[in-house]
Amino acid sequence: MPKIIQLSPHIANLIAAGEVVERPASVVKELLENAVDAGATQVTIEIRDGGMTFMRVTDNGCGMTPEDAKTAFLRHATSKLRTAEDLVSIATMGFRGEALAAIASVSRIDLMTKTAGAISGISLLLEAGNITEETEVGCPEGTTIIIRDLFYNTPARMKFMKSDTVEGSKVTSAVQMQALAHPEVAIRFLRDGKEVLSTPGTGDLEAAVYCIYGRESGKMIPVNSRWENYTLTGYVSKPTDARPSRNLQTFFVNGRPVKSRLLIAALEEAYRNRIMVGKFPACVLHLTLPATMVDVNVHPAKTEVKFLNEKSVFDCIHYGTLGALNSTSDRPQVQFKNTNAVPAPQSVPAPAAKPAPTMAAKPAPSAPAKQENFFRTMNAEEYRNFTQVIKDAPKPTPQVASAVTKAVVQDTKPVLRSPVLIPDLPVVSKPVEQTPEPPVEPQIVTEPEQTKLPMPQEIPWRIVGELYRSYVIVEQGEEAFLIDKHAAHERILFEKLKANQEAITSQSLLTPIPCRLSAEACGEVLNNKEFLEELGFEVDAFGENTILIRQVPMDLSPENAQNALESLAADLLNGRRENKANIRDEILHTVACKAAIKAGWNTSSKELEVLVKQVMSNEDLKYCPHGRPICITLSKKQLEKQFKRS
Ligand code: ADP
Ligand code: MG
Repeated sequence: MPKIIQLSPHIANLIAAGEVVERPASVVKELLENAVDAGATQVTIEIRDGGMTFMRVTDNGCGMTPEDAKTAFLRHATSKLRTAEDLVSIATMGFRGEALAAIASVSRIDLMTKTAGAISGISLLLEAGNITEETEVGCPEGTTIIIRDLFYNTPARMKFMKSDTVEGSKVTSAVQMQALAHPEVAIRFLRDGKEVLSTPGTGDLEAAVYCIYGRESGKMIPVNSRWENYTLTGYVSKPTDARPSRNLQTFFVNGRPVKSRLLIAALEEAYRNRIMVGKFPACVLHLTLPATMVDVNVHPAKTEVKFLNEKSVFDCIHYGTLGALNSTSDRPQVQFKNTNAVPAPQSVPAPAAKPAPTMAAKPAPSAPAKQENFFRTMNAEEYRNFTQVIKDAPKPTPQVASAVTKAVVQDTKPVLRSPVLIPDLPVVSKPVEQTPEPPVEPQIVTEPEQTKLPMPQEIPWRIVGELYRSYVIVEQGEEAFLIDKHAAHERILFEKLKANQEAITSQSLLTPIPCRLSAEACGEVLNNKEFLEELGFEVDAFGENTILIRQVPMDLSPENAQNALESLAADLLNGRRENKANIRDEILHTVACKAAIKAGWNTSSKELEVLVKQVMSNEDLKYCPHGRPICITLSKKQLEKQFKRS
């Protein structure tokens, strides 16, 4: 047995470096955290070649005395922990006094630092963790640390590095994370000489979010809630601004960025049935809870987290988000192309003294993208610009709104009429000749069981007409609504189906319908036979690659049975089988979509009236199951502006 020896500090540091310093991004994260801990209000980060050759972090924090600066690079040197009690209270931050020692051991470092009030500062040069030069220098208060040639002395580690572009992007995302964690710090980031991020540092999280997410997340909804002794603050995207991936979901627990399936699930639960499957909300959420309720793996490079009470955490995120979503009544508005008529601020207000927020490599929309139709919903940017204008428009409290409308009603009594209560009617919708849509069996537009969040009932509305056999125009008080009849009907049917989901009734088909699917899809469908039965489908194997459909849900017209089964099979194949409730919802969406009246069909006025009545009496009908708007608004004020009457 060889003799036992203690590893040299250099070897020990290299081992630690393996844990702490994975790549340039982890170095930047550590340096940024140190700058924030030092009380900096302004931090500049600069990298070259993905950070591999050069990284600089300059802060205006408290700086270090010459002795401290030298001690800082020793292993387990920290000013942040003194006693075992400290360890408990700041455990979540992961202070281990290890970062600088570890980074220094695998790079060349230039450090310049000066404390407030000191006449001069100190400059240190280090190589592989050893101080090679030490000089007194004149420098501003705060600290500048430059890391050169990362991993120059550990070629094995160097091999694991990806291209400079990839490493650089990881650095960008580490910087963005810190910027979202600390909106109170103005963070500027330069990549190969180009500024790619600059946050205002006003402490306003929304401004920081806007700098980082840009226009992609749209105008976000603030979240502010308490649940037991947990608090949740931040911003979530509107359902209509759902994203194709989860890359704009950021969670912090007690100020530390974390990755957690639990948090994602809780967030997305709040959006159930509001956004399409396969689309994801964006968020920046800060969850604060007692340190004893969370077990953060203090490994500095990791972001995993364990909660003592997962249910409470889930509820906090879920209900917090749900509350925020339900509190916004943001029917999309009609936007006019002519911006002269509707002067809108050019960008979100940025603090005057600071440079305007820059977007991290977000290209501005191209000119053709600006070509707009007359009637359409706003995109996120326009919505943002428009909020100022909307603020001036008369709409808010129901009391005010009804007062205004009462006056209007008196003035224009002959024009307005109250909605007529129409019982369930057989629908007489028919596709018009030239549309390719197949004709369907008569459908029923029924009253919803119960309407939630009623609109101010006292404001009468009337149907003005229908545009393009697709959009119903409704006037109510000083506001007009354009309702997409298909989207509205689809949503209503979906709610109805969902309410009765324990017992979906089926209709037997006189002639079973064969449905040809891929071999894989057939297998999937037959594997889920019982489940499909619960949903009103009875199916059987029918030779090679064919399924025989014997029964379909009552609300689904037989013509659409094949289509519905096909998309269902695709859902099952796409692996959405882990959560039956979700698949069920998705099927209900499909059924509702297929069964709903279509744009382009002739729809009787009575039928439209029943439909409109349901939309107008239910604030929740803002989104169809697939996330498209059901209804957009156009106020009298907007029109007056267009016609230069105001
Ligand atoms: P930790 O952050 O866990 O204390 P580090 O190795 O990251 O360990 O830093 C060691 C010490 O160096 C810190 O505790 C702090 O006192 C000092 N330090 C590091 N960076 C800065 C900075 N930018 N400004 C002031 N002091 C700093
Ligand atoms: Mg540190």
